[in-house]
This record gives sequence, C-alpha cells and structure tokens, in this order.
Amino acid sequence: MKVRVRFAPSPTGFLHIGGARTALFNWFFARNKGGVFILRIEDTDIFRRTDQAVEKILEDLRWLGISWDEGPYFQTERLSLYSHYAELLLKKDKAYFCYCSPEELEDRRKEALREGRPPGYDGRCRKLTTEEVKKFKGRKRVIRFKVPHIGTLKFTDLVRGEIKFEREIIEDFVIMKSDGIPAFIFANAIDDRDMEITHIIRGNEHLSNTPRQLLLYEALEWKSPLFVHLPMILGTNRKKLSKRTGAVPLSWYRQQGYLPEALVNYLALLGWAPDSNQEIFSSTEEIIKKFSLEQISSSPAIFDVKKLDWINGNYIKKSSCEEITTLVKPYLKAANLLRGDEDEEWLRRVIELEKGRIKRLSQIVEYGDFFFLSEISYDSVESILHQEKTKSLLCAYHAALEGIENFSEEEVEEKARKIIKDRKIKGGELIHPVRAALTGRAVGPGLFEIIALLGKERTLRRLESAIRIATPLTGE
Ligand code: GLU
Ligand code: ZN
Repeated sequence: MKVRVRFAPSPTGFLHIGGARTALFNWFFARNKGGVFILRIEDTDIFRRTDQAVEKILEDLRWLGISWDEGPYFQTERLSLYSHYAELLLKKDKAYFCYCSPEELEDRRKEALREGRPPGYDGRCRKLTTEEVKKFKGRKRVIRFKVPHIGTLKFTDLVRGEIKFEREIIEDFVIMKSDGIPAFIFANAIDDRDMEITHIIRGNEHLSNTPRQLLLYEALEWKSPLFVHLPMILGTNRKKLSKRTGAVPLSWYRQQGYLPEALVNYLALLGWAPDSNQEIFSSTEEIIKKFSLEQISSSPAIFDVKKLDWINGNYIKKSSCEEITTLVKPYLKAANLLRGDEDEEWLRRVIELEKGRIKRLSQIVEYGDFFFLSEISYDSVESILHQEKTKSLLCAYHAALEGIENFSEEEVEEKARKIIKDRKIKGGELIHPVRAALTGRAVGPGLFEIIALLGKERTLRRLESAIRIATPLTGE
C-alpha cells in the first residue's frame, strides 16, 4: 500500500504553529515512506476564504521547505463531486432534506436546554410526508445525514488507541448547506476517500469529527483511512496557545529571523521524539529518516519560545558566515545601520564575531549596532564609566593605542596586557571599562577582536568620548 497523506488547510487566515506542525508531520511521513504528499485547500467557507490567505499559506509552506506532489486542489472546484455523493446518500435513504430554518432550530435548541434534553437536532424532518413536503415548498433546505442511532462506534487512532462513541449521541448532521455548498465535515471525508488518502494525520481538535466521518464511510460502504490525531500544543503556562505564548502567524517567526530548518527541527519535536530523545538534527533529511508515527505522543506538547531560540541559535552557529551575513543584511538595512559601502570582508568578520551570540537574526541589531553606529550611547554603562580608576585606565590605553602602526588584534591585546601588568590589576579591571567605552555595553564578544574591527580611528574617538564622561564620582 502506497502511503498517501494530505495537508488540508482552510484559507481563512494565516498558517500558525499548529498548522505548520500538521503539514510537517504529514510531509515527514510521506517522505519517510516514499509516499505521496497532497495539498488540498479546504475553501468551502466561501465568505471567509481569501485568495491572499491561499497565497500566504503556500508561501509559508515553501519557506519551510515543504514540497507537495499533488495539488493544490481546491474544494470549490470540486463541488459536483460532493453533490454527487449527497444525492447518492439521499437515494440510499441515508440522508434527507431538512426544511427547518436557523431560527426554528435555535428556538428548539433553547427549549431543549430549558427542559434538560440534549440540544442537538431532533430528527424532525427524517420522515416528512409528501403533504408536509409540499407545504414547505419554497423554503430553503439542507441535506442531513441520517445517523443510524444504534450501537457503539469503535475505531483505532494510531496515537490515542481505541476510541469509542455511542451512535445515539450523534445528531443528524448537515452534509450539504442550502446553497449547495458542502459542509466542511462532508467535503473533507469525501475528498479523503476520493484522493485515496491512507493516513489522516491532523490536529487533535478534529478528533470529534472522526465519528461522523466514519459513519459516512460506513454508509457509502467505503473502507476508512487510518487516523492519527496529533497532540494538542499548549503554551508554557499549560493553557491553550495564545498570542502571548506563541500563537502568531508563521510569518512572524520568519520576520524575527528564525531559520526555516531550525523551526522545522523545533516543530518536529512538538509531539514526536526519536528513541534517542535527540533534540538537534543535522538536517531535515535526518528528521525524515528517523520519523515514525509510533513515536508520536498522545500527551500535549509544550510550545516554548526559549527552546526554539536555543535551537535557532544552534542552527545560526553552524551556518556559514557567508550565509548568515547575507541573511542579516536586511535587518541591518532596516535599522539604518548599513550604509552599503561597507567592506564585505569586514562585515563578514563582524558577523563571525556575533554569530555565536544571536538567537534570532533580528538580534544582530540589538547585539551588534555599535559596529555600525558613528556614535554610541553610554546610558547603560554609566556606572562602569564612573568608577574610580576608569578615567586613568582609559587614558593610558588611549595613549598606548595611539602609537600603534599596524592596528591588529595581537598588537592591541599586547598593549592592554602591558598596562594590566604594569599596574598590577586584574584583566577585567581594564577590559570592562574599555568594553563599556567602545560598545556602550557591559557584555559582548572578545574585546580585542572588536577593537581590531572598529579600527584605530573609531577606537580612539570612542575612548575620547568615554574619557570625557568618565569623571570619577569619588575624586582622584
Ligand atoms: N480544513 C481543516 C483545517 O484546516 C482540515 C481538517 C483535517 O485535516 O481533516 O483544520
Ligand atoms: Zn428539519
């Protein structure tokens, strides 16, 4: 049996973390099994669907590196298929027209609740007489599925094990709306069969649809695909993912500077873990090779941006300097830090220095702006600059650097070591104030590498600015 799976987004909004994870798990499985991955756009919600949403979803999938073998199919282009099966069910007496108006249904629902009865559809149009039907002529009608109400429905979910539903509690649900558009649940089930899907891998929120879809398969005498319901994704607060805990469009992660491979790596871990509990993979290929449905957990996955940052930081670190340089340029440009005439080799060395520290590409601005600014702010290092010895140390280092011809990392370090030795101070006592003077920050990459990259002129100028501020609070 050749594996055929699908990702079936509804284009009513952007792709989020949950949808991306569903797409990936289907794709991993298809690629692992040498199967077929199908993209199906479930756009029957014609009032909420937008072309722009379709485009965005395709773009996000491509960005993640996901490729599909068939599709995108659009359900709105397949309407005759759904009508065909709805008519077949009518003919088999497994479906019927319902003439109840939304208002009537709502009134009855309220009444049922008041009287402590189940609020679902009461099956009133199941057996209308020809007379009654005549009376309803001109009314809008939907098609409902006639649920066989006896017995227990059982199925095995590959993640959650055996699941049982009492048929009795399932109401006669709508399969075709009055405008001839299929209900989501119907089009979804018909397509899965028509496209010969072997495994339905989808989010846990669809588990409640499965019994109704199984009833449809039963009525049409079809063999049902296998079901795999992926665990819920919760925030670090163990509640449903919210905007604050990460439920934002995938494009946000892209804008922040997460690498697609890193995001894929992280999303793979949301519900799946290989035997070794490995967390970082060498490539998406490795994930595909190791992926299996048996290792999907049924307990909720926790989405933790900190962990994503850690993984992304790892991927940035292992990417080449050239790659990261290309990728951070747009961020530097947007922040007006890049003039455009920077020496490529110099830029590459700056990135080399910062590459190990940034967790998101966008952080290059926050961490590395001092390389590009003509003037820096000392607001956050005032306490360092006002320390007793700072001024005289900065002056001494300034004097030592002034005399250097070849302004290399080794030379500038040697001058610093000499001052440290002569004054019998600890390395940090000189390095901290100099770092503050040159970067406006208390922490950062290797100081002498920074100095060499800033160059003589800028280094001396910054030391001078800092010296002007560095009046000791306790007089010398
Ligand atoms: N269109 C549904 C959604 O976006 C897909 C349901 C399914 O995968 O079966 O949630
Ligand atoms: Zn009715």
